[in-house]
Amino acid sequence: MSVERAAELLSRARRGVALTGAGVSAESGIPTFRGEGGLWTRYDPVKVSSIDSFMADPVSYWQVSKDRGRVALAAKPNPGHTALAALEEAGHLVAIVTQNTDGLHQDSGARRVIELHGSGREVQCLECQDRLSFEMPPRCRSCGGALLKPTVVLFGEPMPVEAVTAAHDLAVQADVMLVVGTSLVVYPAAEIPLVAVRAGAPMIVINAEPTPFDRFAEVVINGRSGEVLPEILALIGE
Ligand code: NAD
Ligand code: ZN
Repeated sequence: MSVERAAELLSRARRGVALTGAGVSAESGIPTFRGEGGLWTRYDPVKVSSIDSFMADPVSYWQVSKDRGRVALAAKPNPGHTALAALEEAGHLVAIVTQNTDGLHQDSGARRVIELHGSGREVQCLECQDRLSFEMPPRCRSCGGALLKPTVVLFGEPMPVEAVTAAHDLAVQADVMLVVGTSLVVYPAAEIPLVAVRAGAPMIVINAEPTPFDRFAEVVINGRSGEVLPEILALIGE
């Protein structure tokens, strides 16, 4: 069975890398973008999440962000986050590369978390680049500017070079690639598992629905990460 096969692959891994997406936080009450009940069924992502529309109309951006941010800041890690941290602690994973901006991997005790899309827990002023602790309404304390935005990567913004480089290097070295809760359609994040596969690592995909890369995976488990990951961990016995 696939859960057993995943446990076997992970128990042997010493340089495993996880790539996670919004699905891993769905059971913590944070809505995903795509998939069932995803936010993009309700609004246009390019309108609310691009740097151009942010610059043109920061107030509209913050109105959406205010509600979503409140949910994300109140969220707690779920058993999926905890199981990933335990796999790292047991020495099977060396890092968790995440597209999430919610900080829940860090809250669950994971040590090496690489945030490809920045963090929603901090804001920065685009006029002076100062980072501030979260506050509403967001105004920069240094210059009074109103272009404060969360330190997430919006559409049209470049990815953080250091995080992308680190993720790529980890993928090349990986002995298992564990992909959890991501639709694998946002690039270049979606390329990372392919880098690992090309370098010879077996890939495990755990997602609520099929992904475009399932055919490259050794194991595909369609289920909820908060249920599947603890099952795998229990089989490994750590
Ligand atoms: P996505 O929304 O495109 O895809 C999420 C995937 O997770 C879907 O395929 C869905 O079927 C699956 N899923 C839903 N619930 C699941 C569960 N309980 N267990 C396993 N899988 C589940 O997410 P993405 O691929 O991460 O790309 C979206 C982009 O949006 C990312 O770049 C990210 O930065 C951002 N985002 C972040 C958060 C967050 O920080 N929690 C939330 C929404 C979006
Ligand atoms: Zn400023």
